[in-house]
Formats: sequence, structure tokens, C-alpha cells
Amino acid sequence: MEKLIYEGKSKSIYSGNTPNTLRVHYKNTLTAFDGKKTASKQGKGALNAETSHLIYDYLSNHGIKTHLVEKIDEVNFIVKECQVIPIEIIARNIAAGSFSKKYGIPEGIPLKNVSLEFSLKSDELGDPMINSSQILAIGTATEEELKFMEKTTLKINELLIDLFKKAKITLVDFKLEFGRHNGEIILCDEISGDSCRLWDIETGKKLDKDVFRRDLGDVLKGYAEVLERLKKII
Ligand code: UDP
Repeated sequence: MEKLIYEGKSKSIYSGNTPNTLRVHYKNTLTAFDGKKTASKQGKGALNAETSHLIYDYLSNHGIKTHLVEKIDEVNFIVKECQVIPIEIIARNIAAGSFSKKYGIPEGIPLKNVSLEFSLKSDELGDPMINSSQILAIGTATEEELKFMEKTTLKINELLIDLFKKAKITLVDFKLEFGRHNGEIILCDEISGDSCRLWDIETGKKLDKDVFRRDLGDVLKGYAEVLERLKKII
């Protein structure tokens, strides 16, 4: 019997029918600003599930270890059960969002190197930014794990820049999460328009969740556009 073990903002997680696996159900909910803005949009779960699946396949074909086992229908994945490391890693190629606001760098300015930042995953604390010394101090991850996650995030960034470039999309920034599984660190959670900033390479048009955050139009149009372009090149 399956059991709901976690109800997230955009996904529900069930204990799997087979040992050491979980079922991840992609919901139609969109949230922003720590859940203060929410909406439900028909078809959103399926768009993100398919996008994330394509990207995960691409990454695993390029040597990245991930939690994905299989996609069982348009909104459900089976994944390896892992111990999620409660850190979000954000990689940025171009200034945008909170980075622009915090450091006064106008949105759209290319960064001189990839900026990596961490937040502690905690709804009660509002996912505070945390540095590597603080992560080690509180024991959220070991130095070796942190180094591995940084190195892997940079590799994923290069792979995703290449992939999106072929789809005529600029990868501005994105967020990753990792988990421990059988003594290894593997990539978990989704990669989609919910977790990346994606701009049309020619027009700069936003094709990601900023359309929802900033009330710029129909967010799912951008998500569908990204998926269609990826399907043509993967
Ligand atoms: N991001 C995410 N989940 C979070 C916070 C950020 O997926 O809880 C993604 C976000 O979509 C963007 C990148 O990480 O692609 C950087 O987000 P930023 O720090 O600029 O925050 P925001 O402007 O979304 O508050």
C-alpha cells in the first residue's frame, strides 16, 4: 500500500510499492514568494514532469547520477529513496531576481564567473542564505559532500547551458538539490521552468516562473515553449 509521506508545494511524495523507491506526483500548483502567491493551472504538473524527465535523461546520459528510476505516466515518477541534503544550491550565469536586488546589479548583466550560493531548506526559517563555513559548522553536509555538490553543479551548469543554447534559450540561473543514496550523492528534485530562469536567446522573453511571479502573462505558454524546443533537440 502506498502512503503519502510528504506534501510539498508543487509535488506530493508517496512511499513506493517497491523497497527503496518513492513515487513523486507533480501537482498543478504554482507558488512564489515562499508560498505567499499560489495558483493552480491545469496541465502545469504534466509540463514540468515531462521537461524535468527530458533534462534528467540528458544529464544522466552525460554522467550525472540522479534519483530518477522511471516516469510512469504524465505526472508520476518513480525515484530512488534518498536522504535529501537540506541545502538548495543556486548557480547563476546572469544577474537576476534576488541577486540583482541584493547586490544592485541590474537584471541581465552577465556575471564574470558562475556565482554559486546556498540556502538552508527550511520553510519555517524562509530558506535563509547560508555559506559553506556555516554549513560545515552546523553539520548539514561534510566538506567532501559540499565540494562534490559544487563541482557537480558547475558541471550541470555547463551541460545545461549547452543544451538550452541548442534550443535558443539562455540559462540565466537555476536551483539544484542533492541527496545521499548508497554512499553516493545524487541529484534529486525537478529541473524545469519552476526552478530555472530561461530567456529566449534572441528576444530575451521570459519562459519561466518569473512570468507568474511578476504577472507577465500566461506562464504555461513559456513552459510549453521550452518543452517543445527541448523535444526537438534531445
Ligand atoms: N529558485 C528555486 N527555488 C527556490 C528559490 C529559487 O527554484 O526556493 C530558483 C529560481 O527559480 C531562480 C533561481 O533559483 O531560477 C534563483 O532564484 P532567486 O534567488 O533569484 O530568487 P527569487 O528571485 O526567485 O526570489
